[in-house]
Amino acid sequence: MKGMTLEAVAKACDGIYHGSDGDKIKEVSAITTDSRQIQPQGMFIAIKGARSDGHAYIDSCYDKGALCCISEQELPGEKRPYIQVESSLQALKDIAQLYRANLDIKVVGITGSVGKTSTKETIAAVLSQKYKVLKTQGNFNNEIGLPLTIFRLTEEDEIAVLEMGISDFGEMTRLTKIAQPDICVITNIGLCHLENLKSRDGILKAKTEIFKSMNPDGTVILNGDDDKLITISEVYGKKPVFFGIKNTAGIYADHIENLGLEGVRCRIHMAADNAVQTENQTENAAEDFTVQIPVAGEHMVYNAMAAAAVGEALGLTAEQIKTGIEGMETIAGRNHIIRENGFLILDDCYNANPVSMKASVDVLDTAKGRKVCILGDMFELGENEKQLHYEVGSYLAQKQMDVLLTVGALSTSIAQGAKDYRKNHAGAYPCSVHTFTTKEELIAQLPALLKQGDNILVKASHAMEFPKVIEAITEMT
Ligand code: ATP
Ligand code: MG
Repeated sequence: MKGMTLEAVAKACDGIYHGSDGDKIKEVSAITTDSRQIQPQGMFIAIKGARSDGHAYIDSCYDKGALCCISEQELPGEKRPYIQVESSLQALKDIAQLYRANLDIKVVGITGSVGKTSTKETIAAVLSQKYKVLKTQGNFNNEIGLPLTIFRLTEEDEIAVLEMGISDFGEMTRLTKIAQPDICVITNIGLCHLENLKSRDGILKAKTEIFKSMNPDGTVILNGDDDKLITISEVYGKKPVFFGIKNTAGIYADHIENLGLEGVRCRIHMAADNAVQTENQTENAAEDFTVQIPVAGEHMVYNAMAAAAVGEALGLTAEQIKTGIEGMETIAGRNHIIRENGFLILDDCYNANPVSMKASVDVLDTAKGRKVCILGDMFELGENEKQLHYEVGSYLAQKQMDVLLTVGALSTSIAQGAKDYRKNHAGAYPCSVHTFTTKEELIAQLPALLKQGDNILVKASHAMEFPKVIEAITEMT
């Protein structure tokens, strides 16, 4: 790894180097916190976790050829090189920061309340049309996931597309120091993590900490339809690039056609004043193109516009942007469509909040045939959690949902919201509502409640472990 000598690493994490002068100038080949993934000449960072303590695996890492370990403990009698630090977690971040700084690549950092992973996937699909791209795997977006993603970068990579997720003030300051983004994208300011951040203004403040360690000559790309983000008029003396449907000042989309579960078609208008200037011409100037996004949900239009903005900032043509978006793939748990066992399942069970749950209900609403919502608790919503669940219930009762099955204590408020809406609105669509305390109780009743041909939305917060519900539906006899 470029520039990652033991000496440089020890200095970066303020650690005490134990070992010979000869080893001190050697570069490590890879860095990991997982002893099973140690590489010859690699570095192992021993972290004390809730379940296991990495320090117990130091010996086995040396046996597998590790050059060096990072340890919080002194290792008496240890002849092989190691670096002793006060906190291995802090060292993980410091070392990632050093490695990022050594690499000559462009970093795209993505944050926001909702849609980070979907936007990251769309951006990576677009940029892959021109560059060698490394993206965050799944949802590795926090103070551990981000450093581990950075360690996966090699000198061959040209661009890193990194998801950056937070739940409290100060966290983004730490993440941005590590990532040092050249391009920052903020998807929206919603209602996640209200427990710590209290209000949308709090969320705005916490997310915009991302600008602190970005490249001051870089580009900021923001959702211009978000009433909080639109208030950001300048970052490092430059106007952000805005994208939107309602706000047509920057990149914007129109002619939006919801193709239901097949995705969304729209026309994207690039903004002339964001175009890249070359010697004798302006590339991409004010180009328009029609694109079919192969992922369900109208919110994908925003993610596609964000990807178009990033593509444009990095010199892609409209044609390359379009091809990238049209070729993107969905991943399990996020708006993923499964056709199996006679059912069409909209698998969106990776996570949930009120905004994304309503968005998923909208997607299901486009299906033909019976529609079933299997919804579970949404966590970290703060003191209004019951009301926020209740509102999802009244929202879906306004659509044509045939069955609502809820799991969990908070979700009884979704059921109540749906029932009250029906009671108070004579013409409301007749939705049959059932509540369950646990998913095991629900799963036991599924054969009686589901019918062949059903379109089923499955969604809840991560901790509800709803992939088990999907598994039960696909394996139902
Ligand atoms: P997490 O905080 O869990 O990492 P995230 O910000 O990465 O979430 P995604 O996983 O991309 O968000 O999407 C979460 C949900 O929001 C999905 O159900 C998806 O359907 C919906 N969604 C995706 N993009 C948007 C968007 N731009 N606006 C609103 N909802 C969206
Ligand atoms: Mg995510």
